[in-house]
Amino acid sequence: MTLCSLNRMEDKIKTFSKFGDTGKGGITRFSLSPEALAARAEFKKRMEAIGANIVTDDIANMYATIPGSEDLPAIMSGSHLDSVRQGGNYDGVLGVMTAMEAAETIVKEKIPHRHPITVVVWTNEEGARFEPAMMSSGVICGKFDKETMLASVAKDKPGYTFGEALAASGYRGDISNRMTPDKYAALVELHIEQGPVLISEGFDIGIVEGVCGMINYEFTFLGQAGHAGTTPMKYRKDALYAAVKTIQYLHDELDKLDGSLVYTTGKISAHPNIHTIIPGEVKFTLDARHQKTEVISQVLEIIQKIPSEVEKCKVSYTQAWSRKSVAYTPRLVDYVEESAKELGYTNRRIYSGPGHDAQYMIDMIPATMIFVPSIDGHSHCELEYTPVEDCLKGANVLLKTLLRIDKD
Ligand SMILES: [Zn+2]
Repeated sequence: MTLCSLNRMEDKIKTFSKFGDTGKGGITRFSLSPEALAARAEFKKRMEAIGANIVTDDIANMYATIPGSEDLPAIMSGSHLDSVRQGGNYDGVLGVMTAMEAAETIVKEKIPHRHPITVVVWTNEEGARFEPAMMSSGVICGKFDKETMLASVAKDKPGYTFGEALAASGYRGDISNRMTPDKYAALVELHIEQGPVLISEGFDIGIVEGVCGMINYEFTFLGQAGHAGTTPMKYRKDALYAAVKTIQYLHDELDKLDGSLVYTTGKISAHPNIHTIIPGEVKFTLDARHQKTEVISQVLEIIQKIPSEVEKCKVSYTQAWSRKSVAYTPRLVDYVEESAKELGYTNRRIYSGPGHDAQYMIDMIPATMIFVPSIDGHSHCELEYTPVEDCLKGANVLLKTLLRIDKD
């Protein structure tokens, strides 16, 4: 059985870790930054070396294609090269590197294949400098308006837009090079799990069935600010106390729902936030995620049962944003599973909590994902780590999956 190379995988990881190296085990590589452009140049150089033809589209997505033996749409795999501030060496880039490695193995080992194979790099997946996340895959799938995206302003440089960074990058190509369903047959994206499930349960490979739906609500509690020393307890309208009671209620009720529901209050603010003043206004968020729409609906029912007044404070809430759950193409999900089994790698089916480019692509072409373990579940930080042996297993599953799709 012809498989990917451990040495080559290790070399790729070491090389790409240099671009934006923080010196503390991670990288800061914002999309279209000099560091990201250096990573793109390395990608281009390596793909050209194996005979790939490289084009970029109007939002700098890169497509490096090796020809197949027949005139068919290409099978694509890849992810993103950008990172969050002080991010890790695996999020996104591992999906690009494993796709490069699979393509390189196919070329070097002369593995016959009918379809062209394209390794893709999506621009600005993280949205760390220019919001939103998954910007370019979103544009080509019609989720975001291109002009609005071009006007997105850098968080660290007032007035500097994504459009300007794009023009300066040298990677702005032609709109005719965009991914379209007639040119591409399927997409497989490999990614680190970014959570602790695979590593703590001892699995090599996560067979990703889809992406969890999610809702994000913002709650506001209006009480009455007052002096901490002069206002007797019975006259108080303490917005923080009302918020705490509500958070407790949400935990008690949400814990009764399906065990795989995850929910978080990650943001809270108290006004005026002074130790001698009773909080007059408190806001907090609730983020809830689950693969089943029914469970998300149950979360909504629990939210709707919150009375309009808690501890004499007025309660209101708004949905900040939401995302429907996404199911990946069952045939491709099965191919990933068959490939993992063929290779003798332990595996389980899993849903993704975070969003990924592939979830937009599924609207255009058949798509799925492969997860590899994240040590201690660390991600979006410098501690992010997946041993090269685990990366290689992922690359091998990806290779076998691409070859299975090729036989369709
Ligand atoms: Zn990512």
